Amino acid sequence: MSRIFEITERVAAYAPKADIDRINRAYVFAAHAHAGQMRISGDPYITHPLAVAGILASLGMDESTVITGLLHDTVEDTSVTLEDIERNFGSDIARLVDGMTKIGKIHFRSKEQKQAENFRKMILATARDVRVLIVKLADRLHNMRTLGFMREDKRRMIGEETLQVYAPLAHRLGIHWIKQEMEDLVLSYLDTEAYQSLLAEMQDRLESLNQTRERLEGIIQQALQRHGLKAEVQGRMKHLYSIHEKMQRKHIDFGEIFDLVAFRVIVDDPYTCYQALGIVHSLYRPVPGRFKDYIALPKPNGYQSLHTAVIGPENFRIEVQIRTHDMHAYAEDGVAAHWAYKEGDSADQQEDFKWLRQLTEMLQKTENPGEFLENVRLDLFVQEVYVFSRDGDIFPLPRGARPLDFAYAVHTEVGHHCIGVRINGEIADFSTRLKNGDQIEIMTSPDQSPTRQWLQYVKTPRAKQAIRQWFRRQERDTGIRMGESILRDSLGKKDVSRSALKQLQCADQEELKIRLGRGEIAIHRLLEVVGQDSILPLKLMGMKRTMMHAAECCHPIPGDPVLGQLRAGEGVILHHRKCPEITKYQQDDLLEIDWHAKSGQLFKTGIEVRARNMRGMLARVTRHIADAHASIEDIKLNQRGGAMTELLFLVEVEDRVHLAQVLRVIKAVDGVVRVGRRNQVGLCGKPEPRALAETLRDFFSRKHTTSKSNRDKEGKT
Ligand code: MN
Repeated sequence: MSRIFEITERVAAYAPKADIDRINRAYVFAAHAHAGQMRISGDPYITHPLAVAGILASLGMDESTVITGLLHDTVEDTSVTLEDIERNFGSDIARLVDGMTKIGKIHFRSKEQKQAENFRKMILATARDVRVLIVKLADRLHNMRTLGFMREDKRRMIGEETLQVYAPLAHRLGIHWIKQEMEDLVLSYLDTEAYQSLLAEMQDRLESLNQTRERLEGIIQQALQRHGLKAEVQGRMKHLYSIHEKMQRKHIDFGEIFDLVAFRVIVDDPYTCYQALGIVHSLYRPVPGRFKDYIALPKPNGYQSLHTAVIGPENFRIEVQIRTHDMHAYAEDGVAAHWAYKEGDSADQQEDFKWLRQLTEMLQKTENPGEFLENVRLDLFVQEVYVFSRDGDIFPLPRGARPLDFAYAVHTEVGHHCIGVRINGEIADFSTRLKNGDQIEIMTSPDQSPTRQWLQYVKTPRAKQAIRQWFRRQERDTGIRMGESILRDSLGKKDVSRSALKQLQCADQEELKIRLGRGEIAIHRLLEVVGQDSILPLKLMGMKRTMMHAAECCHPIPGDPVLGQLRAGEGVILHHRKCPEITKYQQDDLLEIDWHAKSGQLFKTGIEVRARNMRGMLARVTRHIADAHASIEDIKLNQRGGAMTELLFLVEVEDRVHLAQVLRVIKAVDGVVRVGRRNQVGLCGKPEPRALAETLRDFFSRKHTTSKSNRDKEGKT
């Protein structure tokens, strides 16, 4: 079937209600889209979609599937868009073609066997609709048939992928003949020598095998007839790949394989199957242990039959399969057999639900628990996404997973040091949701470490746990370092006595350091125990992100007189000595700190500027701040009775020396009347205990601005 009228005739034969005109339109559409394109074989491209549609028609697939076969490469390989397909053929076809396009982008790159199952799942998850999968199998089958025209390396790649991914999928769906043909084709391309020698051996024995086959067909047929059974008896040769596989597995030669011919007995109903079995067993001696009842206990893929092996004439071992016509159709075409039009089937919708139910049933009939679990999860597939690493390994992740989940799935260290991600070659955000088939590349840096915000960007328990654990470890390390500094610099000792430890209820020096660093042991309590009046100022350089924080209420900068407040889980909070907030704390528990700048680090602090209300004033001041290498984090403007403007800036500077420079530069600006530092509003004698940052935040919310200016206006009138 390689011409459109042959296909439509075939479809019309099994589906009288099918819209043949629509199939013809799809053909014309595809031929037009692929016009001028060639297959590597030199044939016009349209021969490929035609062949695929032909395979689908031979499977008895519905009209939509056959049309999808014709259109399957248009979106991927031509200028046709999905919208074009939808406009011309409706949303159902568009969805199926889209599924094909998506699968087309997934390639099996891993050499690892264990990745194959993940890969198959990924294909299933991407296909969603089983019909897409069946089109894909037909597509791959035709590509395998024409593989001889490909380059050697491509042949190997496609052959490997077919063997690892598509043949097992055909098996899973019970489409036996596609699986067999694929396997034989792979063998012929990938192990040509073995294939040729098998073929030759088969041909040598073909005559005698055929004679045996015909003779036995007759004997079995007659025996069944004598007992009044209506049956069809078919002998057939084993397919080459399965012989090859058996020889490899059992380390035997071709001559040692006795079951080259197998027989099928096809009857009308299941009851007759058992009757036929009895007759065959009375005719020839059965091989012990070879009888299997797959009618009562179907295979995971839904296959049903009775299997037995008997010792035939001349000690020939013969395999016999006994099944009904329905079981036979299913054994050959699998899920596709359910697809075939049946007389009286009405709504498409019903048909859809039917296959879904059948597929689910089929997948649940499994032999071993591991497989059972795996198959049951099939219907949960939409809950998972399958993504690739740069090396082509596949990672299954829960639906909704994001780049950091992937990074932590690769390795905890990769997660911790992740500074960015590329998805399919493009830089992406940590909040991007991963999609099936995405290729993910994680960029790392040894300087990077997790932030609390990361917890919002991860979905997997593994990533969450790793991040939390990192923080716990960090807190512990920070505690120890802080505790060490306190003991060494402030008390002037490395350890405390055993009795002091006991009084402080610490098991050892390390515990003391941790609890001291976390602020769980108060400084005054420590002084009391070691019998010291006061502590020396703790010397600190710059700021260690995980260990120290500048208080937001007073924004101290290095060089300021500061006091440290130990807070459990957070480290040391540095306050300006004059910050009114610290009066709330027990004075003895505040650490005296000698804080120096470390080059490169910047700290936020507030500046107040009073200037005449002149055009361009704000621009001039901000330019001068920038010239002094301070960056502006926030700005607030207050109009003061027309002539004067009050400007508040939150800037970032290195230390007090740097800040003094910035203030000097601003002071020199024409029109500036007064410049000063203004952080804790309390420092300037204002009663409201609000930090500048907060004031600024308020200012930038529109609501506040309007109400404030309204009030000003009211005051004037
Ligand atoms: Mn194709």
